[in-house]
Amino acid sequence: MKAVMLTGLRQMALRDVPEPKIEKATDVLLKIERVGVCGSDVHYYETGRIGSQVVTYPYITGHECAATVAAVGKSVTRVKVGEPVAIDPAVSCHHCAQCRLGRENTCYKLRFLGTPGQGGGCLCEYLVMPQECCYPTHEAISLEQAVLCEPLSIGAYSVQQAKLPEHANIAILGAGPIGLCTLVSAKAQNVKACYVTEKIQERLQIAHQTGAAWAGNPDKQDVVKEILKRQRDGVDVAFECAGQQETIDQCVELLRPGGTLILTGIPRFDRVSFAIDLIRRKEITIVNIRRQNQCTQKAIDLIASGKVKADFMITHHFPLEETQAAFELVAEYRDGVVKAIIHL
Ligand SMILES: [Zn+2]
Ligand SMILES: [Zn+2]
Repeated sequence: MKAVMLTGLRQMALRDVPEPKIEKATDVLLKIERVGVCGSDVHYYETGRIGSQVVTYPYITGHECAATVAAVGKSVTRVKVGEPVAIDPAVSCHHCAQCRLGRENTCYKLRFLGTPGQGGGCLCEYLVMPQECCYPTHEAISLEQAVLCEPLSIGAYSVQQAKLPEHANIAILGAGPIGLCTLVSAKAQNVKACYVTEKIQERLQIAHQTGAAWAGNPDKQDVVKEILKRQRDGVDVAFECAGQQETIDQCVELLRPGGTLILTGIPRFDRVSFAIDLIRRKEITIVNIRRQNQCTQKAIDLIASGKVKADFMITHHFPLEETQAAFELVAEYRDGVVKAIIHL
């Protein structure tokens, strides 16, 4: 089968590799249809690592995908051959202490698609996954929408973990795909006002159109001042979706006493700091988000019910042969890209 492989820093090649085979009775052989390019994939492409996870070349990346079922193992009951499915890229063991606590996203033996040291990715024609990672869409959503369910599940999970009060006022700092997924998930929960900050102009526009009460660019204005002008007491919850020290600091300033800081963004550095005086006096609760837990079906339902409109996030399409061009586009934040989709 064809596979797109990372072969070095900012290098990719289309190669022929052996097709994977069903091994366990609960395995599903998937024909990959669409793959979303995620910031973390681009991170591996540009730097060859995320923290302690280091790429050994050649390597197949990618973890956001939609597929059709090509074959099933003997005891598969969840999906049928020919059915379109959304994929949860996290394969947990279901047995360890974390899994038993219901914390499958921090499973001690977690294998996540396209994560060095854990398994290959989905930028290839066929993939084998356990049936519990395959979510039939019953054609209630399109293949493109099924790809969006992975980032949307993270947005939905972040909002769930925030335990929003009634009529919450919130801030989202960073309007990349995850920030926007957080925005649409929060809107689906009837938040009162949502303030968004972002440095890329096109994304600010999108945030506006998606229902942000106010959206501003920190390079052009004092966003903290502007938001506090509109929300004198501060916001109930601030979602940090940029992974920057600057945005962490802004979140702390924006929060009301007793507010919650949600850390969703992945910083490119090993340590961040907090203004202890502020977080202590305000009794800020800090919640970390590790991808998502049991929110894939929720994401599918949000789109299928029309409560969340997510199509606007897909801004670019590429054939498999042009995957590198898609990665370059996302790496350079060119042409107003939010989500680029690869078609197989
Ligand atoms: Zn992703
Ligand atoms: Zn486990």
